[in-house]
Amino acid sequence: MDKAVTVQSNRACPRCGNFDRKVLSKLKAKSFCEINSTYRKNYSDILGIKPDTEFPIAKCRDCGFIYSSWLPPTKFLRLVYDSVIDEEIGFKEYLSPDWCGHLFSILGKILTESHRRFQYFSKPIKILDYGCGYGVFIRALTAKGYPYKVVGLEKSERALTFMRNTGLAVVSTEEEAEKYGPYQIIILNEVLEHIPDFRTSLNFVNMALDVNGIVWISVPNFSDKEINRYLNLASHANPFPRELNPWEHLNYFSAISLREILYEEGFKPIKEKMNIDLEYQPNLQGIYKFKNALGVIKRLLISYFFRSRPRTHLLLEKREKT
Ligand SMILES: [Zn+2]
Repeated sequence: MDKAVTVQSNRACPRCGNFDRKVLSKLKAKSFCEINSTYRKNYSDILGIKPDTEFPIAKCRDCGFIYSSWLPPTKFLRLVYDSVIDEEIGFKEYLSPDWCGHLFSILGKILTESHRRFQYFSKPIKILDYGCGYGVFIRALTAKGYPYKVVGLEKSERALTFMRNTGLAVVSTEEEAEKYGPYQIIILNEVLEHIPDFRTSLNFVNMALDVNGIVWISVPNFSDKEINRYLNLASHANPFPRELNPWEHLNYFSAISLREILYEEGFKPIKEKMNIDLEYQPNLQGIYKFKNALGVIKRLLISYFFRSRPRTHLLLEKREKT
């Protein structure tokens, strides 16, 4: 970009469309660029901005949704994703054992639920990975003999090129993705926070999803308390988690707002079955029986505590629209 970007709130609330908002804070570019290990040091030259340029985070006065109230132009976002993020570092981070292990644990949950409701091997299970990145899910599901037909939807030129060069099924628009549907499974893992108009995407997902299909949605968890803490850290020039980034993360969902929005868009959470091994051993005697019983109670309480925490990752199904 030739000249510095003028950054003013120009975006309506992506949840309710209202323009009435309160700017909670303005983040200097350097505050969230310098803590991001995937960003190139010369980000300001690439984007044509000053490191001190400020970017607003606002709260809707109508529905209370928190969002980045400056909508970066498409060209700006393209530069962020395809030039500011260091390709090699971004790629390594994406394919790190840590992140892949996390993705595989998600896949386990999705496949467990899909096994419960679909007839396998009678016909392929169609899966859409919406925002597939470098295709970890797709590669894990496309082995010969597997009963899946998987396609990725990706908008980043860099990831698209990678996917095409490695021969994985990928499309770049919703229109193309629709041709392969309807899908029994749609995955949106860490995607909705990046999308300017996430309601349009959810509408597409609802339309492209089979009547008995399932959706996985995960976004970073931003309760009001959490985001205020991060903004407070930023205002005192202290480092904060890199999830707070007004270029990449345009929408800040809490566990409650995410559920409400998904309900409005025609989805309801699938009740997850308790899937823990309580290690109950019925044949023990005396003190061992007592100790085993204590252990069972402890494991039950721990699982209940963790399950009851508000989450921003959900398995969903369609609900009847009233
Ligand atoms: Zn609103």
